[in-house]
This record gives sequence, C-alpha cells and structure tokens, in this order.
Amino acid sequence: MKSESALGIRCNSGDKVKTGINVVEFFGIYFGAKSMTICSKCGSEYLSQNVMEEIEAEVRKRGL
Ligand SMILES: [Zn+2]
Repeated sequence: MKSESALGIRCNSGDKVKTGINVVEFFGIYFGAKSMTICSKCGSEYLSQNVMEEIEAEVRKRGL
C-alpha cells in the first residue's frame, strides 16, 4: 500500500496543499530535507506518517 496522505488534505486556512521538500528540525535535531505537504497560502507544513515516526523514534532515542 502506498502513502496517500498527500492527497485530499486541506489546510485549516481552507486552501489546498501541495507536496514539497523542506528541511525538518525539531528539538535542535536536524533531520535533513524531507518530503512534506505544504499549504501554499499560509505555509503550514504537514509531515508524512513516515517522517513523523522517524522524528518520534529519534526524539525517544535521545530521551528528549
Ligand atoms: Zn493554509
């Protein structure tokens, strides 16, 4: 099964979103450029499930 999270998402601003690549950094940890869904209107970023899990795993590993 392929990821379909990028399709059908609408931002809170009511705008449709597009897929893009942006640098991800959380809690001072640099995760590099990741594919994500970005609202072209307000700039909100929606990370894919995979990326979210990667970040959570890393945060847990570092005990943050
Ligand atoms: Zn928006």
